[in-house]
Amino acid sequence: MLEDDYNLVFIDRNCDFDEIPKIMQDCVGKNSFNPVWEMDYWADARWECMAEEVNKIMDKYEELYGDDDFDFYKDEIREFLQEQIYDRDVSDPDMDCLKNTRKWHFCYDLNLSVDDWYTLDSKERSALVRKIARKVKAGKEHYAVIREMLENSQDGCLLVFFHSDLEEVITKDSDNDFQSVTFKNPVIAVVDYVQGSGYNCTLEGVEFTVPFDRNGLRIDNAITYSYTDAICGMIDEWCDSTEVKFSFDKVGRRPKNGSVLQQQCDEEAQYIANFKAGKCSFYDANITRHRDTFYRNEPMSCGRVCPHCGRIWLD
Ligand SMILES: [Zn+2]
Repeated sequence: MLEDDYNLVFIDRNCDFDEIPKIMQDCVGKNSFNPVWEMDYWADARWECMAEEVNKIMDKYEELYGDDDFDFYKDEIREFLQEQIYDRDVSDPDMDCLKNTRKWHFCYDLNLSVDDWYTLDSKERSALVRKIARKVKAGKEHYAVIREMLENSQDGCLLVFFHSDLEEVITKDSDNDFQSVTFKNPVIAVVDYVQGSGYNCTLEGVEFTVPFDRNGLRIDNAITYSYTDAICGMIDEWCDSTEVKFSFDKVGRRPKNGSVLQQQCDEEAQYIANFKAGKCSFYDANITRHRDTFYRNEPMSCGRVCPHCGRIWLD
């Protein structure tokens, strides 16, 4: 009476993981889909559907062979059927859901900490433009756009942005991870995720390859002040010009010091922890993580003030 296959959980096209970027980031960091499996998101649905199938078979059984023996072995039969049906379940709702999930905006850390343009003298400014150009193998013809990006951003880290499916960045094998990554026509940006500032530019015709470091790869949307939405409010295709290719070929050495982006994310995690512990942090620009802020109307310093740490958000 058992079927060969069961499809216990059916996923329609509207079902996706778009709303859980942090779990998706967890997959990126671990180079594995385990964080998705571990959610065990469909356990209830699978159980309900299995129980229904078991009941159907039990009813039929009882109708055909129902007697005292059947009553006696009822629980054992039920258990046997449960196991059998679970074993024969060919549905893969997690994978189906991943296929329906949106492309993400990824940023990759080029491991260059950028100083605020307006604190530099003209020599230092030229040196910074050249340094960034060298990093991404851009020629002199790109100096002007890089300059423009620096004039409009504050200090932060230098990132490349691209738009991709989650599956593209995961090898599912920690012993066999990507060794290098190549970007073509890249959209680069200087971003400070903690203060929520940044500016980007596109380098047409530029192509460069860097060693791959998984710690430097992030889903923009998994960061509280996402560059795409919270900082800039961009359209979905804003960084589509970047072509990205991961490779198992080694090039050069991975940077020794930790990723700059990682430091920013750690800093933000610390602010969140402080806030959860009932405190706040003076250097945390996110006003929602300060309590009892009030408006102070004083000449030269109109703005909101946090009475606990003293931070001011000037108008
Ligand atoms: Zn505060």
